[in-house]
Amino acid sequence: ERLDREIAEVLGLRERREKDSELFKVFSEVFDRTTVETISYFYRRGKIDLLYGVLSTGKEANVFAGFDAQGNRIAVKIYRTYTTEFRRIWEYLAADPRVGYLPKDIRKLVFVWTRREFKNLQRAMKYAVRAPEPIAFRNNVLIMEFIGDETPAPRLKDVEKSLEKKDFEELYDFAMGSIERLWKRGDMVHGDLSEYNILIWEEPVIIDWSQATVKRNRMSLTLLYRDIKNITSYFARKGVSVDDPEEKFRELAGD
Ligand code: ATP
Ligand code: MN
Repeated sequence: ERLDREIAEVLGLRERREKDSELFKVFSEVFDRTTVETISYFYRRGKIDLLYGVLSTGKEANVFAGFDAQGNRIAVKIYRTYTTEFRRIWEYLAADPRVGYLPKDIRKLVFVWTRREFKNLQRAMKYAVRAPEPIAFRNNVLIMEFIGDETPAPRLKDVEKSLEKKDFEELYDFAMGSIERLWKRGDMVHGDLSEYNILIWEEPVIIDWSQATVKRNRMSLTLLYRDIKNITSYFARKGVSVDDPEEKFRELAGD
């Protein structure tokens, strides 16, 4: 009951009495005991004070907008502990040299996945590649800097209609520059870079680092190629004179 009370508090259900709100629906649908306990762990430590909105509901994770006890906005990514993406997660983790023992238990595997995304965010920041600042993680819950203000930052895909050639050119330089910097300086690759994982804010920010990995990973060249391909073909469609993807790949993979 203490947990339920805390969760009601976190969801602002007291004040708002929105038992049928979208937020509450998403919550009750995807939150098992572990998740509830993890949220209340963060609540007691002031890391999550309120979750007020659903930013996204995906196959693997849901992302919520919230506040910490100091009133800072936060984004909270909560992985489903029962996921149909189990195989994919397992394959990605198995190929990552940073990941040692792989738990057989799906729930625990998701915890490893969550921790890896946190580490990826730290690593991206270390090499000055723009990403949300990682704040904390525990079990299947990842807290990070919220990109946006009252409204969340839109994705590149959401605003592309209002952009001009010059904007696309700058964004292309940002995206390709990030790929290169990550690879050359950070020995790292994002692996799912696209117009869906770039948020447009004061400065563009790359999100969704769950599949990112290190150069030493046997899949890293495949992921690097994929990122280069996705970015060059998207921006070519927007009229940017992009690098030749094969050439760019050889240039980076060569060293
Ligand atoms: P998908 O499967 O749709 O790619 P995902 O489960 O991989 O989603 P993310 O891509 O990390 O999760 O996040 C989903 C959405 O939540 C993003 O497209 C973005 O709109 C929003 N979002 C994620 N992180 C943040 C953040 N730090 N600040 C603001 N919004 C965010
Ligand atoms: Mn995404």
